[in-house]
Amino acid sequence: MAIAKKKVTKPIAKKSVVTTKKVSAQKTENPSSDDFWKYAPAPESKDHVTLKEKYDLYIGGKFVKPNSGKYYETINPASGEVIAKIADGNEKDIHLAVTAARKAYDQHWGKLPGKERAKYIFRIARMMQERAREFAVIETMNGGKPIRESRDIDIPLAANHFFYYAGWADKLDYAFPNAKPKSLGVAGQIIPWNFPLLMAAWKLAPALATGNTVVLKPAESTPLTALKLAELIHDAGVPEGVVNIVTGFGPAGASLVNHPGIDKIAFTGSTPVGKYIQKAIAGTPKKATLELGGKAAHIIFDDAPIDQAVEGIVNGIFFNQGHVCCAGSRLFIQENVAELVIRKLKQRMKTLIVGDPMDKNTDIGAINSKEQMDKINQYIKIGIKEGAEIYQPECALPAKGFFCKPTLFLHTSQSHRIVQEEIFGPVLAVQTFRTLEEVIEKANNIPYGLSAGVWTDKGSKIFNLTTQLRAGVVWANTYNKFDPASPFGGYKESGFGREGGLHGLYPYVSLQS
Ligand code: NAP
Ligand code: MG
Repeated sequence: MAIAKKKVTKPIAKKSVVTTKKVSAQKTENPSSDDFWKYAPAPESKDHVTLKEKYDLYIGGKFVKPNSGKYYETINPASGEVIAKIADGNEKDIHLAVTAARKAYDQHWGKLPGKERAKYIFRIARMMQERAREFAVIETMNGGKPIRESRDIDIPLAANHFFYYAGWADKLDYAFPNAKPKSLGVAGQIIPWNFPLLMAAWKLAPALATGNTVVLKPAESTPLTALKLAELIHDAGVPEGVVNIVTGFGPAGASLVNHPGIDKIAFTGSTPVGKYIQKAIAGTPKKATLELGGKAAHIIFDDAPIDQAVEGIVNGIFFNQGHVCCAGSRLFIQENVAELVIRKLKQRMKTLIVGDPMDKNTDIGAINSKEQMDKINQYIKIGIKEGAEIYQPECALPAKGFFCKPTLFLHTSQSHRIVQEEIFGPVLAVQTFRTLEEVIEKANNIPYGLSAGVWTDKGSKIFNLTTQLRAGVVWANTYNKFDPASPFGGYKESGFGREGGLHGLYPYVSLQS
């Protein structure tokens, strides 16, 4: 017995020491030390990714050089490294793309039966699933978001959007009974940098399902997954000119908006550019959907499941670096639980891992660009100057790239700029409230109206709030949940029109009553 005991205990003790050492080179073996509990690095491999040095425009089913002959460098915001050179498209390229889209619409795609269009869209979805890992890695390399998010949210959701709308393509008469839905023609689509592939999917899938052809302009800082999507669309055998992708800067987007050959503009981006687009198309027959900025209220009542609510708050503002239009960036806590919620929130913030987005343990990756980093830092300074109390957990940030600690501002009020303006970073402004009426008034007292979150045990309170909050989406006892079948869109300066679900078909058809 004694020998057996010796044999059993010794290797176990030894093994546990070895494991501890493996976890981290600098780790102490003392479980009461903070270092003891740190995760070992778990970087995702880039080996299976193939990227070209230079990317051209995708027009009329071919990769073509930009008219200007110019290319710009796209970087990895986590390291500053140049990943590839991207064609700088201009007005002439946009014209070629719109012409190709019109030709494809008139000659082929506009006449194709829904069930045939569906086959192509299904194929895109299937191929995206097959190449999901590659897309996820490229999204993270180019955008800075944690690989966990690209892998588990962006890419699967993008594929699901194609699946979902492929299903509608031959059922439009059921979607709009007795209304004889007809496609519009050529859709111009402009997307931002925070969900590059997902936004491309939100735009392309309903447009193609309803029989329109497309010219898509990705954001200047995150063009790579859209260009990979161009390759995929090409491989899927989608007829030439049905999807055209023109990379470039703001002026390329403006040329698309102003081109007389488009029938519709679908834009996701900032409110100032959305306003510019609305002015530019006023008086033209062009239809528009504008998905713009947000400043969501996240409301925690005293009867809420507090631990889950804290997790919801963290998910709502800190994951994806707060680069989410519907980020829960204004937190309202009922006064009698405020101390408890803030204490738990601070504790949770201390455990968030900020760093290499390619690491599977990372919670907060890189800020997308220097421009955005400067903007966030500017707002942090404004918050301090306005007299709000700042809290940031102690954590070391990587030496290279653009990173920001999760940031809490306490004792804020409705008049603070950090409460009223969209920061688009991991910065949360906290206020307290006493009554339901007070929080509804405060939550609605803002130019935006994209989304909101409510945490409470009472169903009646949820229903009351969902009818009174001026927000396109209200999540209850959860946050940031998306599904291709449910519509998304805003009120007030967050724009108009809906994407997703049956509602997402409507902006791409004309109906006869
Ligand atoms: P942005 O600066 O407005 O840019 C969006 C897109 O518009 C980019 O492709 C941009 O090109 C292009 N663009 C710039 N100027 C233009 C012009 N004059 N005419 C036409 N297009 C133009 O927005 P962002 O900074 O990329 O994205 C962040 C914003 O998007 C935030 O406000 C966020 O709330 C909003 N957003 C909203 C939703 C939603 O569903 N409501 C979803 C995601 C993001 P460049 O990249 O070359 O500037
Ligand atoms: Mg921009």
